Amino acid sequence: MTAFASRHIGTDAGAQRQMLAALGFNSVDALVQAAVPQSIHAAARPTTGIPPAATEAEALAELRELADQNRLARPMIGLGYYDTFTPSVITRNVLENPSWYTAYTPYQPEISQGRLEALITFQTMVTDLTGLATANASMLDEATAVAEGMLLARRASKAASNVFVVDADAFPQTKAVLRVRARAVGIHLVELALADGAELPTELFGVFVQYPGASGRVWDPTGVLDAAHVAGGLAVVAADLLALTLLRSPGSLGADVAVGTTQRFGVPLGFGGPHAGYMAVRQGLERQLPGRLVGVSQDADGQNAYRLALQTREQHIRREKATSNICTAQVLLAVMAAMYAVYHGPEGLSEIATDVARKTEALAQRLRDYGQNVHHDAFFDTLRVTVPGTARTVVERARSRGYQLFWADEATVGVSVDETTTAADLAAVAWAFGAPEADEHGDRDLAYADATPIAGVAASLHREDEYLTHPVFHTHRSETAMMRYLKQLADRDYALDRGMIPLGSCTMKLNAATEMAAISWPEFARVHPFAPEADVRGYLAMIEQLESWLAELTGYDSVCLQPNAGSQGELTGLLAIRGYHEANGEAQRTVCLIPSSAHGTNAASAVLAGMRVVVVACDEAGNVDLGDLRAKIAEHADALAALMITYPSTHGVYEQDVAEIAAAVHDAGGQVYVDGANLNALLGFARFGDFGGDVSHLNLHKTFAIPHGGGGPGIGPVAAKAHLAPYLPAHPLAQRADHVGGVRFTGGPVAAAPYGSAGILPISWAYMRMMGSAGLREATAAAVLAANYLAVRLHDHFPVLYTGVGGLVAHECILDLRPLREQTGISVDDVAKRLIDYGFHAPTMSFPVAGTLMVEPTESEDLDELERFIEAMIAIKAEAFAVSAGQWPADDNPLVNAPHTAQQIVAEQWTHPYSREVAVYPTRALVRTKYWPPVRRIDQAYGDRHLVCACPPIEAFA
Ligand SMILES: *Cc1c(COP(=O)(O)O)cnc(C)c1O
Repeated sequence: MTAFASRHIGTDAGAQRQMLAALGFNSVDALVQAAVPQSIHAAARPTTGIPPAATEAEALAELRELADQNRLARPMIGLGYYDTFTPSVITRNVLENPSWYTAYTPYQPEISQGRLEALITFQTMVTDLTGLATANASMLDEATAVAEGMLLARRASKAASNVFVVDADAFPQTKAVLRVRARAVGIHLVELALADGAELPTELFGVFVQYPGASGRVWDPTGVLDAAHVAGGLAVVAADLLALTLLRSPGSLGADVAVGTTQRFGVPLGFGGPHAGYMAVRQGLERQLPGRLVGVSQDADGQNAYRLALQTREQHIRREKATSNICTAQVLLAVMAAMYAVYHGPEGLSEIATDVARKTEALAQRLRDYGQNVHHDAFFDTLRVTVPGTARTVVERARSRGYQLFWADEATVGVSVDETTTAADLAAVAWAFGAPEADEHGDRDLAYADATPIAGVAASLHREDEYLTHPVFHTHRSETAMMRYLKQLADRDYALDRGMIPLGSCTMKLNAATEMAAISWPEFARVHPFAPEADVRGYLAMIEQLESWLAELTGYDSVCLQPNAGSQGELTGLLAIRGYHEANGEAQRTVCLIPSSAHGTNAASAVLAGMRVVVVACDEAGNVDLGDLRAKIAEHADALAALMITYPSTHGVYEQDVAEIAAAVHDAGGQVYVDGANLNALLGFARFGDFGGDVSHLNLHKTFAIPHGGGGPGIGPVAAKAHLAPYLPAHPLAQRADHVGGVRFTGGPVAAAPYGSAGILPISWAYMRMMGSAGLREATAAAVLAANYLAVRLHDHFPVLYTGVGGLVAHECILDLRPLREQTGISVDDVAKRLIDYGFHAPTMSFPVAGTLMVEPTESEDLDELERFIEAMIAIKAEAFAVSAGQWPADDNPLVNAPHTAQQIVAEQWTHPYSREVAVYPTRALVRTKYWPPVRRIDQAYGDRHLVCACPPIEAFA
């Protein structure tokens, strides 16, 4: 093993020998060879082209070289991305703190109260600032949030029209994403200069307004919103949250939906992401919200507690009827933005906004003084200046001094001011437009303290109402208080820094500190997504390497890194398939076959791609039912677009017949989409492209070590064969049109930024660089070994639901707890909650099969931790049998009462038929390492019946 791989992989050679002995194999390679079907081995070609492993020091040195190829400039391009000061207390205690970044989506709310509180704070911040009733947490970025807003309007409007009106003064990337998403589902977009008084058509289902506009203009859209309502449509407004501290809220202007980004609330630019988008809706639309919604409920003691409301796993439940395909969101970034608001409070935010507006006003004045034509009278932070024929010159002059401006066209330059802009910056920018170096007093700085903020804005648009009134935005103002608040929240949560999170299908592997290091370097963090090519060469070099490595590892020809999550990758891949069929004159091919076992996002993505979902049955062994597949192919032959199949399957097994399945689809003219989220079971041993895949998405936040951040960020790159590559997404503002292999993508964008969440690519780059191809293969083998070891040790206690050849599983196994329930009355829920008392995060519960636990230990856990889990599961089973044997009543035992809190066991009266020690220290080892859940079991249904999605008053926790 290489130096880093031996630290990334938890089991050493001795442990692996012991585990292999329990399975009857001599080597990990022999185990994987036996588990993976022969047909796949036969097809597998060796991977070359991944450099041998670097040490941690070498990788950091190479990252430093890449960082140095990015020019640290002052981005003033705007268009939804602004430089910002991340308070250091947030960088250190959230962004760089594994207690926050290694947590998972809060499916087990009792051990996620800290991040759930942070997210409900985010929702409160958004509802307050937008003046609407309910906000989610979160959207993937602003452009996709607008697209989701359009789809929400389509669902909620009673209008029969398929027309959606788009503000001409919207961000170009938003318009481009809207075009893609509208076209896919047959929505007709009509672009109108709304601020210039263009009349709305009489037939429409919605209208979208950018507020302030992309050109910086602030205007009163009330008339447009009213007209949309008269036509039976909904009004979607994309609003800048910082501007909303000074300007009237979209809700008060009549918007039904507000969307946008929270990037400028302390989240680094990162060359485009990750940042949290937001969406808020008026009352009555909350059940239409896409993505995740945090709500308040009660625990078993009637105490307030948070949990995901309504949509907890909505794609899994509603599949093709889901409101959207969003699964992984942007939790870590939403937490940062919320904490930025907690840190500054309403006064601090409005001070920042006022400062920004003053600077903009002063710059406009200086430009006008020197004869420049500044477009609008009313603006917040952005100016458009007419410079006939000299736009290039102005932009280049600015660049020579380190400033990046927006080249809008030959005659127009845009400039956006932010909280980091200084008086010297303003003077330098004015100089780029032709103003003298110093003013008449010889001052080289552009003084702005006396400028009137948003001077040209009508009084009726000034914000009068209060916002961020909750105490959370007023009580953590000193750094000591802030540090302690962040620590308190983190302490309520169970993340990888406490123990194993064996969530099946989530791949909770190590996120090594060295992998994380570079993301906060300013050369990666403070880079605008639309910066000129010459300023981002380090990023482009890294992207090129990643594209070629991922293509190599998957057996495909091209890779697109743009999608912001696995779900977005699915949509992207399916859109490429549609593009291909259309180019071949086969636009009628729109049927997407999806096995019943598939991840819920698959069906939801197919619908968003404008496809029709046809479900293929699975047989008793959990494999695709070949007979049913052939029948469905025959039935839909001419309309067959694609089969979406997950490999290895969501049942955790390597299906035998995958090559045959792929061939059957190809024979009928269909394309094969292989969902690659489970690549951790295959990487280094086989490649999707070699056994029939045409296109796949990968989850860098699963297989390639990007941390889950409590439910995001993620990156879902799409890899495709050459015939599909041309239909992958390009981007109107991309620095380069070409991709690895010299291919030019021609599809429209699926995300706001050309390379999506580029700011976290250094993590996966470092992972691959330090593992090398040998290390990546060893990691796969160790992951498969760990899953099979758990399966063999536990199968006498809990049947393993599905296995492949030789009784082996892939990288995860499904433990069937339904027999236990029949025998003892103890449910899978009880076992999951009791695991908390034992110091564990429960495995994935009731997915993909109700009443089961899906366990994925990953390669990063050591044998001690695996043993601890095995012992806990066996002990819990014994407790369940003690219930059925009558030792404890069915309604009062350590399982149904789990998890137990500290408060509960110090109660004066202990009335339960088991001891306090059994309750909280079921094993002695816990005495020193105990994790104490802050709340008892949470009543999910109560919270959905009494929907509350904003911070409850402090007294509620008394
Ligand atoms: C995780 C997962 C997805 C969705 O990925 P997100 O990044 O959460 O959108 C899709 N398919 C499978 C099989 C997965 O495990």
